[in-house]
Amino acid sequence: MHPETLALRSTHFPDANVASVVPPLYLSTTYERDANYELSKGYLYTRADNPNRQQLESSLAVLEGGATAMAFASGQAATMAVFQSLKPGDHVIVPDDAYYGTPSLLQSIFADWGMSFSKVDTTNLAAVEESLRPETRLVWLETPSNPQLKITDIEAVANLARSRGALTVCDNTWSTPILQRPLDLGCDVVMHSTTKYLGGHSDVLGGALVFKQDDSFVQRVRLVQTLGGAVPSPFDCWLLSRGIKTLAVRVRQQSIHAQRLADFLSEHPAVEQVHYPGLPSHQGYFLAQRQMTMPGAMLSVQVKGGAEEALRFINKLQLFTKATSLGGVESLIEHRASVEGPESTTPANLLRVSVGLEHPDDLIGDLRQALSNL
Ligand code: PLP
Repeated sequence: MHPETLALRSTHFPDANVASVVPPLYLSTTYERDANYELSKGYLYTRADNPNRQQLESSLAVLEGGATAMAFASGQAATMAVFQSLKPGDHVIVPDDAYYGTPSLLQSIFADWGMSFSKVDTTNLAAVEESLRPETRLVWLETPSNPQLKITDIEAVANLARSRGALTVCDNTWSTPILQRPLDLGCDVVMHSTTKYLGGHSDVLGGALVFKQDDSFVQRVRLVQTLGGAVPSPFDCWLLSRGIKTLAVRVRQQSIHAQRLADFLSEHPAVEQVHYPGLPSHQGYFLAQRQMTMPGAMLSVQVKGGAEEALRFINKLQLFTKATSLGGVESLIEHRASVEGPESTTPANLLRVSVGLEHPDDLIGDLRQALSNL
């Protein structure tokens, strides 16, 4: 089946009791036992499992082509559960350009627990090979990366990691399973901040992990999920399942808009550089064509000048909201270095854009007026 059909069918849970087309919300935290003191429907307590969460998890597994999935209260809770499933002494490789919260977890929390990590340019296979140690347990990928949209060869890194006994996890938040399916390319786990495209409307916080196989590592992560309890509420799961129904049309259309904006910006005299894998000038242009169905709806632009020009530019914009996050239907723009703080290595003139569903002609008109007389 095609992704559009999968998205709709995998979230279709009618309630036979009342013949509803849309599933109800199961707010009950606890479930009754039968005369044999059995859990006849399989549910015990909502931290362990919940019908709305199970519906979301089964849909995510289908969309990513995984054996099983787990939903969390945020993307960071999902990432945290992966790292919590490792052991003291384990070493992790993370990309040098990635959502800053991922290496921050390793540095601020897991270093104290005896885990180590290396930041590596994962677009360079030789650099990944050099960084692999006997104790490397996991290689984390994010492609396209945040905020520079670097493209990593998922299949090559996953093969290399496997040959050294390490797992590969890919943060697929930016691409979604509509544009890229890392498990098909050899990854063991896919991670999502479902807060972004899967929810799609900037109104729900969530995270997810999807696993290629249901093995002992999965059991360990499930223990962290159930005992740790960083699980999403039934309503958040319900909203995410609803968001998934329109995922394919949103992401594809937003990607078309992003390509138009990237083409416009790359020709503009006030622009120093555009980072977008749909531009032939981009480092990962050919690779993106191979492993993604479209280049996605995220782009970064460096205006000529520094932080002052960058901030002046976004203050002149009318149709882009100055806010963090991404993946909603509305266009957002963000001065990434300000958000990442003093240790940020992101260029001061870089702005990250999450391109929405407004008409691209209107968005381009707004960019044009804001870039004039910077
Ligand atoms: N991964 C990526 C690529 C992200 O963009 C984000 C959030 O911006 C996260 C992970 C963290 O997700 P959350 O904010 O849902 O915890």
